[in-house]
Amino acid sequence: MFKKILVANRGEIAVRIVRACSEMGIKSVAIYADADRHALHVKKADEAYNIGADPVAGYLNAHNIVNIAVAAGCDALHPGYGFLSENPELAEVCARRGIKFIGPEADVIRQMGDKIQARNAMINAGIPCVPGSDGNLESLEAAVVLAKKIGYPVMLKATNGGGGRGIRRCDSEKELLSNYDRVISEASKAFGKPEVFLEKCVVHPRHIEVQVLADAHGNVIHLFERDCSIQRRNQKLIEIAPSPQLTQAQRDYIGSLGVKAAKAVGYENAGTVEFLLDSDNNFYFMEMNTRLQVEHTVTETITGVDIVQQQIRVAAGLPLQYKQSEIAFRGFAMEYRINAEDPQKDFLPSFGKITRYYAPGGPGVRMDAAIYSGYVIPPYYDSMCAKLTVWALDWEGVIERGRRALNDMVVYGVKTTIPYYQQIMLHPDFRAANFNTSFVEQHPELTEYDVGLPKELMAAAIAAAIAAHEGI
Ligand code: ADP
Ligand code: ADP
Ligand code: MG
Repeated sequence: MFKKILVANRGEIAVRIVRACSEMGIKSVAIYADADRHALHVKKADEAYNIGADPVAGYLNAHNIVNIAVAAGCDALHPGYGFLSENPELAEVCARRGIKFIGPEADVIRQMGDKIQARNAMINAGIPCVPGSDGNLESLEAAVVLAKKIGYPVMLKATNGGGGRGIRRCDSEKELLSNYDRVISEASKAFGKPEVFLEKCVVHPRHIEVQVLADAHGNVIHLFERDCSIQRRNQKLIEIAPSPQLTQAQRDYIGSLGVKAAKAVGYENAGTVEFLLDSDNNFYFMEMNTRLQVEHTVTETITGVDIVQQQIRVAAGLPLQYKQSEIAFRGFAMEYRINAEDPQKDFLPSFGKITRYYAPGGPGVRMDAAIYSGYVIPPYYDSMCAKLTVWALDWEGVIERGRRALNDMVVYGVKTTIPYYQQIMLHPDFRAANFNTSFVEQHPELTEYDVGLPKELMAAAIAAAIAAHEGI
């Protein structure tokens, strides 16, 4: 087993990986930009190294990060999600320097990171894909011809996109004409590559994804599916496992498709195969994420499998700890992405000092957070600062537990998505497990809530009680 792992990330996911290392008796090494000097992942890791004054550049500098790993005596590196996690060059630099990259081979990352190559590999493997282009679009004229053939609405997507960016729906030729240059420029800016392609737009689909695990000995298993249909601007907000919208037959089918997809590309380590489910109950492959996913917590909660520990074991060459027949799930889990954003202002980021933080607890509650009272959320990074995951035996129970835990949770100083999620928990369609990726957009009224005074008073009372206890 590895002795020391460099965690090439920040925030809650770096904390998550440090926790897995600690449970496995492995030392952890954090990296941090100046802006992250007081970040929780730095405090939790066994060692920490500064990567410079620029808030972002250091986290994207593969050579320097691997240099630190070598100098600190690490034998492996975990990339987390975002940043360099899907960058094949990081995997290559690691391989050259004798540091084991905790993820798939560079070639597989490269192939799956290119949505066209990924689609073509899946088509060859007999996996259903959304009808679309078989290569990058060469010109606007070619796009117009292809869109006419596919039929509107179409999705114009950045070939190397991620994080919900570089995607535009076009309902007509006019919209395609006006979006084309915009998506190309977004793709160049965000992903450094101007390539774009077209896909048929699946109208009001559900986003269903399958968690897979694969080892170096040819074993591939799935850990069931997650329903990530509650999204804003193609970015996930709430994720659920298993999907309350699937039958057991659909669940078996999609699980087997996930395994087939992973096998088709010689996948190793943890990965996620994303599908869209249309209103006629057809599944279509959308993309594969070759890394740990934000919402892996819901899968861990219903199956009991520690996905990060499995990633580390598999990277160390050990076989998967479980056979498919040993994997079962129980109840429902729901994850809420607690973003420092104002849902009432179109989810505008809301950075600054957290004046008061109180974590929820009680039965069936898990917190993955990078915040604490007094922490200042820097403006340079993703607005997601914590994840609340709840579990209960049935669908109604998990909604009520979520509502209660959201109500328990106190984050003051910045606006968050917490009150908005409380509204979603009350909505009859959500409660009836009847929702798709348009839910947020179709229910603008859910942002019309009052952030009440009673909670403010409760937080003040808690703070006063703590102060009294400490004798301050
Ligand atoms: P998940 O599917 O794990 O929920 P997301 O798509 O929400 O993943 O992305 C997780 C994080 O990684 C987000 O912070 C997102 O901004 C970032 N991210 C994902 N893909 C890319 C990419 N290709 N380039 C830059 N950032 C990305
Ligand atoms: P990313 O790499 O940014 O995660 P995805 O290709 O996974 O991009 O798409 C993100 C989201 O955009 C999906 O979850 C879905 O809501 C929407 N989407 C993407 N492609 C389509 C499509 N062809 N039809 C309908 N919705 C789509
Ligand atoms: Mg995706």
